[in-house]
Amino acid sequence: MSELIAPGTVWLVGSGPGDPDLLTRKAEKLICAASIVFYDALVGSGILDLIPAATNRVAVGKRSGRHSKDQRTINQMLVHAAKSGERVVRLKGGDPSIFGRATEEMEILTTHDIMFQICPGITAASAAAASASKSLTLRGLARKLIFVTAHAKSDEPLDLDWQNLAEPDATLAIYMGKSSAAIVSRNLIGAGMAKDTPVLLVENASLDNERIIHSRIDLLPLTAKTALGNGPAIMLIGSAMARDHNKSLHRQSKIAEAL
Ligand code: SAH
Repeated sequence: MSELIAPGTVWLVGSGPGDPDLLTRKAEKLICAASIVFYDALVGSGILDLIPAATNRVAVGKRSGRHSKDQRTINQMLVHAAKSGERVVRLKGGDPSIFGRATEEMEILTTHDIMFQICPGITAASAAAASASKSLTLRGLARKLIFVTAHAKSDEPLDLDWQNLAEPDATLAIYMGKSSAAIVSRNLIGAGMAKDTPVLLVENASLDNERIIHSRIDLLPLTAKTALGNGPAIMLIGSAMARDHNKSLHRQSKIAEAL
């Protein structure tokens, strides 16, 4: 198994939204082949349980607001491990290529002539939509899917193209938007989005403590403030997220109505 990763090389591996059953088979094989695993705060504990006991594991969770310094440290740790001949897995929540700062890590590895590859993962938007039995696109109604982060650098305003985001034929998947819910709501409505546009908020998608909340764009600030806990949450906005009464098997008890 360990030959999957050559000594001195790095795999950036997507761990999906948290449920170990949503890990790709390849990701699991890579986790088992690694001699060292660096993992983010959002990697689910069920996934960490898959790391063999003998494998070195290093938590490199980042906290909001301290990104750049911490990212530099992580980069150095990856380079050092690879240069020491380790078989390195860098585990990232969701898909490494979506708001995962994969580019910084690939750049530094390239600078040091270290070979790397990416193993994709299920991103939070896909997991959240699936949990609520929704399709992110909808023929004729939601022709575009826009992945956007509402995370602003501290002391800088959120600089997004609201006009473009407010278009009615799109589904917006807003990552890291919990603390910007009021700004998102105000700006999208200001750019012409209908006030009753459906919003689906999903916290801890795919995990046992998952919460699915239906709201609408004008009520989003209140919903985000009152209904969400401390877990990671994603907002899905657009007509494709309209509440309906289909007979899907999603866990009705977990679905709260904010209307
Ligand atoms: N690379 C990740 C995203 C990292 S950014 C991916 O592809 O999913 C971190 C943000 O992702 C969180 O702030 C939240 O908005 C979202 N997120 C990650 N895991 C989540 C989960 N299990 N449930 C809901 N949102 C999640």
